[in-house]
Amino acid sequence: YYCTTAGIADLRERTLIAVKPDGVQRRLVGQVVQRFEKRGFKLVGLKMLKAPEDLLSQHYQNLQKKPFFPEVLCYMSSGPVVVMVWEGYNVVQTCRMMVGKTNPAEADPGTVRGDFGIHVSRNVVHASDSVEGAQREIQLWFDCKELMDWDCCDHNKIYEL
Ligand code: GDP
Ligand code: MG
Repeated sequence: YYCTTAGIADLRERTLIAVKPDGVQRRLVGQVVQRFEKRGFKLVGLKMLKAPEDLLSQHYQNLQKKPFFPEVLCYMSSGPVVVMVWEGYNVVQTCRMMVGKTNPAEADPGTVRGDFGIHVSRNVVHASDSVEGAQREIQLWFDCKELMDWDCCDHNKIYEL
């Protein structure tokens, strides 16, 4: 069974989601944002920027030895990205599920990548893959002053409190 009363800390889990340059170019920002809003997650940070190369290489530090690493940096710096922080219960895992497999060719329909992507080199969005990874990425992309603490008026329609 599931304990229905989640701890306050569980409801404050955060993840970093980014619409990559291809997603911005293809005007998919609104549709991506809408999916997480509809699900019930709370948007606590959002900005658009052209990501500097050093930020990108830190963001993708675990890919540094991969052959496609230079391609990823080139892709990610090819235009502006829209970076967001979403908050809620189990948000990291749920957003990964909603984003779908890394390779859009393997991503299920209904996921962002499965609905909007075809090839692994242009997979529309980024989503943190763990709670620790999310914390690291959020600190990398956002100043704490850029993250909003606010109360959702329908909080008790989404969670049993
Ligand atoms: P993610 O967490 O699902 O985004 O996947 P990874 O952390 O493994 O990889 C990060 C990003 O690198 C992916 O989202 C893709 O944009 C890119 N990437 C991964 N594998 C490949 C590949 O084989 N070729 C290319 N060109 N890019 C890749
Ligand atoms: Mg990853």
